[in-house]
This record gives sequence, C-alpha cells and structure tokens, in this order.
Amino acid sequence: MRLDSQKEEVNSLNCLECDAELAIPSDAIQGEVITCKDCNSTYELVREQSGTLFTLRPAELEQEDWGE
Ligand SMILES: [Zn+2]
Repeated sequence: MRLDSQKEEVNSLNCLECDAELAIPSDAIQGEVITCKDCNSTYELVREQSGTLFTLRPAELEQEDWGE
C-alpha cells in the first residue's frame, strides 16, 4: 500500500503505544481495525460525535460475539 502518491483526505493518528503514525483511510468506517506496523497493537476506529474524525480505541484480543 502506497500512501505517498496521492494524498487526499487521509487522516493519521498516532499509535498509543509507540507513537508511530497510523494512516487512516479516507473511506475508513466505524469499527474498522487498524494495526500498528511498528508494534502490532490493534486499534478500533471510533468516530467522534462531533465530526468526521476518528479516535483510537485499543482493540480487545478476545473476539466479541459477532453472531457466528
Ligand atoms: Zn505502535
């Protein structure tokens, strides 16, 4: 994945663990899981109430029941 060719509305957030930059795709959706490439921490994107920005919520390792 290349992010340096075209920069549209790519948000970025910093990893809560190692402060590496995490690129957030412009078409990211609520609940999308982002993995830090540096420390392998996984985060869930949570849309802020106020607008279009996302915040990171550490993803639990144990899977929720998704109705499987
Ligand atoms: Zn990290």
